[in-house]
Amino acid sequence: MARGTGASAGIGIGKAAILREEKLVIENTGIEDAEAEKERFKSAVEQSIADVSALADDMASRIGEKEAEILNGHLMLLQDPMLTGEIENQIDNDKVCSEFAVETVCNMYADMFASMDDELMQQRAADMRDIKTRMQKILLGVQSVDVSLLPAGTILMAEDLTPSVTAGINPDNVAGIVTELGGRTSHSAILSRALEIPAVVAASGILSEVKDGDELILDGESGEIFVNPGSDLIAEYEKRRDAYLQEKEELKQYIGTSSTTVDGVTVEIAANIGKPEDVDRVLAYDGEGIGLFRTEFLFMDRNEMPTEDEQFEAYKKVAVAMKGKPVIIRTLDIGGDKEIPYMGLKKDENPFLGYRAIRFCLDRKDDIYRPQLKALLRASAFGNIKIMVPMVTCIEEYREAKELVADIGKELDEAGIAYNKEIQVGIMVETAAASLMADVFAKEVDFFSIGTNDLTQYTMSVDRGNDKVSYLYSTFNPAVLRSIRHIIECGRREGIMVGMCGEAASDPLMIPLLLAFGLNEFSMSASAILKARKYITGYSVEELKAVAEQAMGFVTAAETQQFMKNFVEGR
Ligand code: PEP
Ligand code: MG
Repeated sequence: MARGTGASAGIGIGKAAILREEKLVIENTGIEDAEAEKERFKSAVEQSIADVSALADDMASRIGEKEAEILNGHLMLLQDPMLTGEIENQIDNDKVCSEFAVETVCNMYADMFASMDDELMQQRAADMRDIKTRMQKILLGVQSVDVSLLPAGTILMAEDLTPSVTAGINPDNVAGIVTELGGRTSHSAILSRALEIPAVVAASGILSEVKDGDELILDGESGEIFVNPGSDLIAEYEKRRDAYLQEKEELKQYIGTSSTTVDGVTVEIAANIGKPEDVDRVLAYDGEGIGLFRTEFLFMDRNEMPTEDEQFEAYKKVAVAMKGKPVIIRTLDIGGDKEIPYMGLKKDENPFLGYRAIRFCLDRKDDIYRPQLKALLRASAFGNIKIMVPMVTCIEEYREAKELVADIGKELDEAGIAYNKEIQVGIMVETAAASLMADVFAKEVDFFSIGTNDLTQYTMSVDRGNDKVSYLYSTFNPAVLRSIRHIIECGRREGIMVGMCGEAASDPLMIPLLLAFGLNEFSMSASAILKARKYITGYSVEELKAVAEQAMGFVTAAETQQFMKNFVEGR
């Protein structure tokens, strides 16, 4: 078995077709007539623009306007007078042929973008190379491989797929995509998701293991790839594929329906996101809000902090896209296992017990926390933003954060900048201390969101990333369950909203217990929303209270979990 990164969910089974784009040989054949050569170049640009426009139109009508945006980005590059002007200058001054001038100028820009440590810029580099090849093929009269003509049941394999090639794929014929390069957020990965074709990217070395016509299975979730699998494995994966497709189809009926139990209790099913772009998926899966925006992702994969304005734009984008639905934005939660090199954090002896999250932010008010809170307050004028403080252990931390918010509010008042003066400020309940003090916190904070990923770690004293002790890392441990129940009860007693944004919120075996305890909001990855709604709408809270009572009577995680499994599967 080989493995890459799952980039588009689903199971692909079929025969490999390896896309080997002919390597273009670019030589500098000198020219005599620069004017004529520039005309030749101009007509290649025009042809490229016409081809990309047609592809973008086709993409917009077949898939969506948003996906066509990627190709519109190519058009912008092709129409950029600075780029074309520079190529023409080189033809003029150095008397080189168009293909060669295109090669040097486009490579220069692509290398420049690629050297910037920013995902967006890396993507721009890939786009620049894509249009370079397009122009050169036209100049050299090289035909592109037409991927729309592949036979049905093809697993398309390539070192990397350019958006131009991916856009031409016919999803009826391509059962899966495997590339050696790329990442989950590369344009070709985004397009595979839009086309709903299972895809695995970053499967390094896979092309040397596979030849055309080999039988392949790929799992777009786990990233697993099986080359020439036996008939048993094929049969097993065919079953999984059919079950996946059937469930996906069935779950669509839950789009637009209310998350209300049989006995009329309505909860909110929200989504966890890391970047503003993730909102598209939240809306596609009918998320009722954002229960956790992990803002540390805005700070990662770059060399310097995002400015207040950059943050403001990101938060505003999410708030606007969610059109008044709640958007809980968590302030920076770094440290622990989340490192950001330019922040200059020293390695802690015990990172999870160390200098992280709110502890770090309150120590770095001026350069880090204030700009973030200010960006959040400014963005709150554009939607229903709530602020969430992570890793709180004592009430003073919350008070200090709240005071800062009030102080920044005054600044904005003085400057005449709009913001939501009633903005809610809540906390993540994810430490043992916060759980034990939940009754006290509930009297002061505006809402709770239970972070079971950390709560389990801190309750069980078990590092969430350490395989050796992972057998102890279970939310079904009675200690963790008691803690969760206690937090929900304390919150509900004071009438504040209690949500959960840890992984447990989407666990089918946990959902009945959480409903019985009275949880108001369940926040999870977008793709889990409809399934959670299916479960939730099938229960009656009254019936679940009796189930929870029994479940809480067990003294081991294994028994509790088995009991819940029997209950859920026995329905
Ligand atoms: C949690 O701890 O449960 C949580 C949602 O936050 P993170 O996984 O980002 O620590
Ligand atoms: Mg956490």
